[in-house]
Amino acid sequence: MNKDEAKERREVDLDRLDRLRGAVPPRPHDARAIAALAANPGCARRSVLDAAGIDKDATATHLGFPAPFGRSPFAITRGNAFEALVKESGCAELLRLLRELLGLPVAEAAYTDLGDIGGDPSAHLRHAHTRTLLDRAARDGAGAGTLYDHPLLRLEIAGQSAYLEPDVVAFLHGGRFHIVEIKSFAVIDGQAEPDKAAAAARQAAVYVLALKTMLEELGHDPGRVAHDVVLVCPENFANRPAAALVDVRRQLAVLRRQLARMTRVGTLVDALPPGLTFDLAPGDDGVPGRPAAELREAVRAVEARYAPDCLSTCDLCFFCRDEAAGQESTDLLGRQVRDALGGVATVGEALGLADGSREPGEGQEEIARLLRLADRMYAELS
Ligand code: SF4
Repeated sequence: MNKDEAKERREVDLDRLDRLRGAVPPRPHDARAIAALAANPGCARRSVLDAAGIDKDATATHLGFPAPFGRSPFAITRGNAFEALVKESGCAELLRLLRELLGLPVAEAAYTDLGDIGGDPSAHLRHAHTRTLLDRAARDGAGAGTLYDHPLLRLEIAGQSAYLEPDVVAFLHGGRFHIVEIKSFAVIDGQAEPDKAAAAARQAAVYVLALKTMLEELGHDPGRVAHDVVLVCPENFANRPAAALVDVRRQLAVLRRQLARMTRVGTLVDALPPGLTFDLAPGDDGVPGRPAAELREAVRAVEARYAPDCLSTCDLCFFCRDEAAGQESTDLLGRQVRDALGGVATVGEALGLADGSREPGEGQEEIARLLRLADRMYAELS
């Protein structure tokens, strides 16, 4: 496909995505939503809805399966207080942590607030300001250690600009930028809750990608953004911050693949019935006038790939879980089980291999042996 054909194809895709969304404005992507893309990259339903900028929360609510998300006021207050503590006095506490973690000499530290742009809070201006100062830093500040607070980054998601307003700072040290992610979940004896740590890593990967993209656009080497992000959390049961380096290369690779897939969402959209729409235009009373049953059929027209991870990452999780109930696919047991059962597609097949009523197919001998062993151990213990 040449450049003109690619452009034309892109316009057709965007037009189709607009029609799928209907008469409501696209929902802007935030870092949580972008990060969640990497949690279930094989789900066509999520890819299509996100590419079209559809409000999945409103969709789930109209379907009768409201999303289980939303932090409690207590958790929000706690998170804000912890972030304020870390950033107090020009990020003094954060600098202490960074000095320990990155071996930064005391003299090499400066603080720049990129959110301070003379009272104009528009995203466009704040982003331009971030670009200007980070460009200057990349050119001139190779030796200095400098914290950049409140940067506003940007990523193109399926033709739309997503502005990412992180609670992170970009830290330039020795010519390399580090993303710093501040989270209020506790790290106890060096361990955080795996779900929370994984979500933080995925979210940090979004910022790494956005910062790499910005540097590349400015003509700098994107490799100057470190893959190791600095994760700051309260340590043990006190509120004292602790920092650790987290390698987000894997999350970054998944995110890149998924974003590339979204830009090729046209192939998914081509396979949908003509005239399909997820339109949720509100009536005079502010409530979508469309019958829920009709919307349900529309959503079901796009293939889903439900997995337990969806419960912590996607607004449609209760709807998709309900839809998937009774299905046989081992995908439903989660990524870890699915990977461990590699090549065994259904629960019935796995049970048959375990109790010996089914002969293993080619390449299934080892997993069949392990399943039979597990079955025997289970029988002995129960
Ligand atoms: S909840 Fe549904 S739409 Fe969302 S990622 Fe999971 S399967 Fe896909």
